[in-house]
Amino acid sequence: MTSDSDSNSDPATLADRVQDGDLRIHELEEHADYDTAAEARRLLVERETDADLEAVGDYTFDAEQADPNIENMIGAAQVPMGVVGPVPIDGSAADGEHYLPLATTEGALLASVNRGLSVIRSSGGADARVTKNGMTRAPVFRVDGVAEAAEVVEWVNDNVAALREAAESTTSHGELIDVEPYVVGDSVYLRFAYDTKDAMGMNMATIATGEACEVVESETPADLVALSGNLCSDKKPAAVNAVEGRGRSVTADVVIPGELVEERLHTTADAIVEANTRKNLTGSAKAGSLGFNAHAANVVAAAFLATGQDEAQVVEGANAITTMDTRDSDGDGPADLYASVSLASLEVGTVGGGTKLPTQAEALDVLGLRGGGDPPGSNADALAEIIAVGALAGELSLLAALSSRHLASAHEDLGR
Ligand code: NAP
Repeated sequence: MTSDSDSNSDPATLADRVQDGDLRIHELEEHADYDTAAEARRLLVERETDADLEAVGDYTFDAEQADPNIENMIGAAQVPMGVVGPVPIDGSAADGEHYLPLATTEGALLASVNRGLSVIRSSGGADARVTKNGMTRAPVFRVDGVAEAAEVVEWVNDNVAALREAAESTTSHGELIDVEPYVVGDSVYLRFAYDTKDAMGMNMATIATGEACEVVESETPADLVALSGNLCSDKKPAAVNAVEGRGRSVTADVVIPGELVEERLHTTADAIVEANTRKNLTGSAKAGSLGFNAHAANVVAAAFLATGQDEAQVVEGANAITTMDTRDSDGDGPADLYASVSLASLEVGTVGGGTKLPTQAEALDVLGLRGGGDPPGSNADALAEIIAVGALAGELSLLAALSSRHLASAHEDLGR
């Protein structure tokens, strides 16, 4: 707040001043503290729309703390949060038993994920591994034609060290992993990939890439057209993320004894495998889908909301392939079930963005992952592995419900 904190800065007067055209709606924080500014906006919106914003105004966090996360704040959208687990996870970073907090309005979701986790737990837990890590930003440059494009590509391939030095001068945590050039006619795209440690890293990667672009422009004939050329590819469904990965590429798997499949999931490994093949693989292929899974987006979105991730990145976070196979059981019993889910582009962080807001930070505390990890990057790796196991549980439970034909009745009982 600056300024005229006087009689002109009570909420009703501020709302009047905006309505009179004396102030603009985004300027209110310059004339009052953050909570008063939000209250003035609520009053204004209530007057102009007849909405009652009492619940929206009933928030618990410090409005000033939320300033980097929101403009024109009027309050908060509250989403119910629950918890599933605990589940044992053997990961590269996640280790031991974990509860997973999930925020959603979809009834039956947590019950379903919890059922899957419970079966995973009874099977001894899941393995999970981050197999690739790289947050990407791909600026697009204009060149004269293909000859100049080739010249730029050659220079970039020979000078990654110079680009690294420029990019890393902007961050104490980020590390440039690679720069992959792509040429389309007289456009050159450079897909920069960074290890952003415990940050999701989109701001970090963008700032670092901006610095590197200045070197490209000064040393080659390329002219920067846009710092993001959509080959990154952020918040859009894109095959490049499915193939090359973005953020964390993470896989979780488990083998469930055949007896447990029958007792707890009320079906057989064969039936689940068939449902997965015909639905998640063949059905998705016929649909031209990028997602070869049942509902990974459900767990990714709910975990993102709970832990302060950028919710629009559910688009690529849910880019997952689910596989199911039978395995011979040890004895004469029914076949065991091998189940896996591979998320190609899960963009998560435990620092930065919305992670420091109070409920989101508490949710990260449930996981033991608030803030930076030791070593840096290990907290974000662990978060990715735990979300992957949550997604695996969701896949198992839904495929089991479909194969045992219990899906509709479960939603009738739990969701409405
Ligand atoms: P950020 O909040 O902008 O920055 C986080 C900072 O935390 C890092 O830059 C780093 O500083 C510091 N840090 C401290 N400990 C760290 C650790 N252990 N590991 C990594 N960093 C550590 O967050 P961001 O992750 O870069 O960006 C996320 C935000 O970007 C979200 O709010 C998201 O909504 C937004 N976003 C931006 C764009 C865009 O194009 N700019 C696109 C999509 C989303 P140093 O760099 O100094 O080391």
